[in-house]
Amino acid sequence: MRTQQAFSDAVLAWFDLHGRKTLPWQQQISSYRVWISEIMLQQTQVATVIPYFERFMARFPTVEALAVAEQDEVLHLWTGLGYYARARNLHAAAKQICDQGSFPEGVEALEQLPGIGRSTAGAIAAIAQGQRAPILDGNVKRVLCRFDAVEGWPGQTATSKTLWQLAEQYTPDARVGDYTQAMMDLGATLCTRSKPACERCPLQTDCIAQRTGQQAEFPHRKPSKTKPVRETRMLMLVNERGEVLLNKRPPSGIWGGLWSLPELPTEAEPQNHAAQHWQLTINPAEAWDSFTHTFSHYHLQITPLKSLLAKPSAGVMEEGRWLWYNMQRPQDLGLAAPVKMLLDKLASQL
Ligand code: SF4
Repeated sequence: MRTQQAFSDAVLAWFDLHGRKTLPWQQQISSYRVWISEIMLQQTQVATVIPYFERFMARFPTVEALAVAEQDEVLHLWTGLGYYARARNLHAAAKQICDQGSFPEGVEALEQLPGIGRSTAGAIAAIAQGQRAPILDGNVKRVLCRFDAVEGWPGQTATSKTLWQLAEQYTPDARVGDYTQAMMDLGATLCTRSKPACERCPLQTDCIAQRTGQQAEFPHRKPSKTKPVRETRMLMLVNERGEVLLNKRPPSGIWGGLWSLPELPTEAEPQNHAAQHWQLTINPAEAWDSFTHTFSHYHLQITPLKSLLAKPSAGVMEEGRWLWYNMQRPQDLGLAAPVKMLLDKLASQL
């Protein structure tokens, strides 16, 4: 273990020479921009986030612009990033901030907003507000677990407590924003999950995992459970104008608030189901190859079924929950990634 001063000095010296300083959210730094980037970067790589961040900022340059937006538009700009609760929480938090009249300052106040945990609050407070606050995202956990050979896996309460203590202890008083960026960078670019580049790491002389050759052992892994597989059938019902029927999912849960293809309950027969539930007369359905979409807790095996309407639709669908989606002139809607993929494939065939 190093002293706080030696640890942060080494990390900051490395950052000055090698850290990333040109990422879009490192320019015109503000609490709003850092917050959006931190939320997008959860579970997502920097390279993936950059274009999403730029589009988001072009459309919603301020928290006020985000607060007054339609949820559909926010979700549309999130399409493909996954974990959509993040976008719904951002939107709700933006409204809350505008109601309060100013962006909250400090970890405790930031943590009151939906979707902001202790580490995200710490990153905003440190980077945008210059306050001394530790962070503990996945990258930092990996660095600290290896550096101090922390036992247990990071999700365990006792381990998490130890890691927060270490994060707190190593955070310097000065240059806290740079230090925070540096720790995230170090974890993302040097102390990577596999094959960390220890020979270039500023912490190598005191890192226990490096000294004992145990980089692959830390962080310890949670004993794995096999994810269950669930199955669903998605109906692609195409009307006489080449539009496909979509319905809006409930606000919470998987793909909450996104537009999706209607799903067919197990055992239901497509033609009977369409007639009974949506008053639609459809031709026999053609099954496409099944594919798997993986969520954090389970695999979803999706079988797409395509069918053309045999009679024009009477247009009695409940507005706001159902819509006929024109694939040639797509609207700005949030679509779940596999649904977007199926619509693209369907559009190329029509
Ligand atoms: S020396 Fe290697 S294992 Fe230790 S913190 Fe640096 S990159 Fe990670």
